Order: sequence, then structure tokens, then C-alpha cells
Amino acid sequence: MSRREIFFASPQNFKGDIVTLVDDELHHLTRVLHHKVGDRITIVDGAGVAAVDSEIIAIDRDGARARILKKVRRYGEPYVHLTLAQAVPKGSRFDWLIEKATEIGASEFMPLLCERGEVEAGTGKLERWRRLALAAMKQSCRSFCPVINAPLSFEAMCQQGRNYQLRLLAHEGNDDTLRPPIATPPPRRVLLAIGPEGGFTDNELQRAKDGNFQLMSLGPRRLRAETAGIVAITKLLTLFGQL
Ligand code: SAH
Repeated sequence: MSRREIFFASPQNFKGDIVTLVDDELHHLTRVLHHKVGDRITIVDGAGVAAVDSEIIAIDRDGARARILKKVRRYGEPYVHLTLAQAVPKGSRFDWLIEKATEIGASEFMPLLCERGEVEAGTGKLERWRRLALAAMKQSCRSFCPVINAPLSFEAMCQQGRNYQLRLLAHEGNDDTLRPPIATPPPRRVLLAIGPEGGFTDNELQRAKDGNFQLMSLGPRRLRAETAGIVAITKLLTLFGQL
């Protein structure tokens, strides 16, 4: 079966077996894709629920209503909630990272402010990143829109570590390569930290060790920060059998 076009409606627009598409999604449905009453589409709520099969029953200027024929929870979602804590690289590289990491299966982002960090993220960027994550969720047929946190300090990230079963920090020049089995049952929540181009400082490394972070190697080559993020996510999801 070919995949249906995927649309987004927030959870409050899911009422019983009726979903209403509004704003950009309405525009996309009617003006761009010229859908009509009777067409079948997939609608995700960004919180992990998908109306994988729904039929458009009414379209007017304010909204399009669709009746849900089949609903699936955790549609397109990996078993593990993977959070990528990463120093924000210069320019548009973080945009690229959010898009690609969302496609691969990351569920949360923590823009990190490191001692050797390069840029501080303004609030405008945060809104753009959230829009990019939403678009990438739809594009990659997921139902959960990755959470993009406000930028936080390395210390605050370490404290968040207690909400995760596995805490990893990618660091060049160590031999600790993760091999399966990592843990049985596999962890549900994994926090993964990637440093800035200048790398983590000794102080940060020590702090992470104190916080029970495990060092992780990504091989003998030095990767650009955003490449390291993508490689680490791919490696982890592969180890967990999720790719
Ligand atoms: N000059 C820096 C390199 C930073 S590369 C240094 O000496 O550490 C940016 C980030 O990508 C690193 O902080 C690390 O988190 C990750 N990274 C890059 N290559 C890696 C590798 N081969 N193994 C593990 N992590 C790596």
C-alpha cells in the first residue's frame, strides 16, 4: 500500500472520531494538493497518535473535517526516546541536524551551551527549529514531533541525566565503543551529548563522569559536530534494533 499524504492537527483538534485541519494544513490540503471530500489521508497529532486512515467529510474556509477510520498509537516511532544534547554549531548546521536527526528517529533536542560553545541560540531560532521538526516529522511518517528545548547549560543537561536510563557522551580519542547487548531490557530513555567543534573541556568531561555518563567513541576519525550527532543516533538506534 502506498503511503497516504500526512497532515498535522494538534491533539485538541482530535475530538472523538473527528479531526479538524486548520491554517497551514488546511491550505496545503485544499490549495496545494487539491483534496476533496471523500479523499483518504493520514493525520498525525505530534504527540504519538496517527489517524492512519481518515476520510475527508467536509471542507470550508475555516477547516476541513475528517472522520477517523483507523487509529494507530506510536505510529512510526522508535521504542527508545533518544534525546540529543548538542552544542549549537554556526550558521544553518543545526537546522540541518534537526531535520536529519528527526528523520532518523531522535525524539528530543537540547541545544547545549558549552564552555567552548560557538553561538547562543536566540528565541527566533527556537521557533524555526520547532517548525523544522514538525515538517520533518510529517515528511518521515512519524507521529511524535520531537521536543526542542530552550538552550541549556552543560550543568543543567547533566542534571537532566537522572531522567534517563542511559547517559552517553561522545568523545574523540577514547576506545569505549558501545557493543550490544547494552542492557536488557533496552533502555527506554537515552541521553546523548555531542560537543562543540572545540570539543568538551576537561571540566565538562569530569562533570559528565560524576553524573554517570558513559564515554562513547564514534571511531578513529574526527567528525564534525553535526556529523557526530547523526552517526551517534544511527549507531544507537541500530544497536537497539530500531533501524
Ligand atoms: N577538537 C575537538 C573535536 C570536536 S568534534 C576535540 O578534541 O574533542 C565535535 C564533537 O563531535 C566532539 O566533542 C564529540 O562529541 C564528537 N565527535 C567527533 N568525532 C568523534 C569521534 N571519533 N568519537 C566520538 N565523538 C566524536
